[in-house]
Amino acid sequence: METLAAVFRDIGAPLSIERITLEPPGPTEVLVRIAAAGLCRTDYHVMRGERRVAMRPMVLGHEASGVVEQAGGSVAGIRPGDHVVLTFIPACGRCHWCRRGLHHLCAEGYRITLGPQLDGTFRRRDGEGRNVGAFCMIGAFAERAVVDQASVVVIDKDIPFDLASLVACGVPAGVGAARQRARVQAGDRVLVVGCGGDGMNVVQGARLCGAAMIIAADIVPAKLEWAREFGATHGVAAQGDDLTRAVLELTNGIGVDHAFVCIDPPSTLLPAFRAAAKGGNVVITALTPDTVADIRIPPLELFVTQKAVMAAVYGFASPRIQVPELLALYRKGDLRLRELITRTYRLDQINQGYSDLDAGRNIRGVVVFDN
Ligand SMILES: [Zn+2]
Ligand SMILES: [Zn+2]
Repeated sequence: METLAAVFRDIGAPLSIERITLEPPGPTEVLVRIAAAGLCRTDYHVMRGERRVAMRPMVLGHEASGVVEQAGGSVAGIRPGDHVVLTFIPACGRCHWCRRGLHHLCAEGYRITLGPQLDGTFRRRDGEGRNVGAFCMIGAFAERAVVDQASVVVIDKDIPFDLASLVACGVPAGVGAARQRARVQAGDRVLVVGCGGDGMNVVQGARLCGAAMIIAADIVPAKLEWAREFGATHGVAAQGDDLTRAVLELTNGIGVDHAFVCIDPPSTLLPAFRAAAKGGNVVITALTPDTVADIRIPPLELFVTQKAVMAAVYGFASPRIQVPELLALYRKGDLRLRELITRTYRLDQINQGYSDLDAGRNIRGVVVFDN
């Protein structure tokens, strides 16, 4: 069949909106009609060549929800008509980590930048017959996608698709970083640097954990206002040494128990590290571009302050466990999802969506399909 897709062809260029050919699902795959796809910064890093992928052309998009239209013969537990969230790291179910329920560390995760399906073959072709890859083995910036069952979580049908798409990446990334990685405790003091899709959800996660002080830091003043609605108690519009100084002032010179780096790790890590209290945690949730070879923390400072520097992808927890749990929290009214969506776009407006992201206009922009 044919499907409209936003295709990554050239570094630094807008995504190309074109009709591509989509082949039927293989034995372990499903055909999904995409309903909503979030505009995450990771795809933007790919478009700018800061996160290298192994091939072009490639359909980007990895934060999505939709409806299963067709399932291969060996697919178990997923039927046509099911509403699903697609996960940007597969869960092969067989590797060392999957057997322990740590699907966010799946051994097949390295494949997400390669282009082919999980089985190494292609399902997409462009107008000239060339193979087209799928970012994260999903390629959600398209009306339809063929994905392996390892990338699918079935959800309840009462959850609106636009909200469901958010629990595919940004919400678990942020909430999980606070809950599962840093293990924020009631009464803790938290700093969140960068209040976009990830950071705003770290704020929510820290609130859910009972943090007493949540300092939001962003250079876009509007985001500090929004962060208060998600639970931030303080806002700091500063970066670099000024950021560190402001946080130390707010914490009587002690620093925060947990500092989260949710944007631009090369430049924000050291100020966040220095804003953390001795013995505290520093958690990186944002992607560091391939073009950055190292990030600087003076080793003696690390040693004497006894801080822990760590990273969290997918909130350091299995999306298979987190997706239903986060949707349950939403249903109870404990998790804000609707408020995360600043603006929606049609697929042919996706490049506008990414310039809005770059300009700091959105918490999350979402492509909504009406096909
Ligand atoms: Zn993402
Ligand atoms: Zn695995």
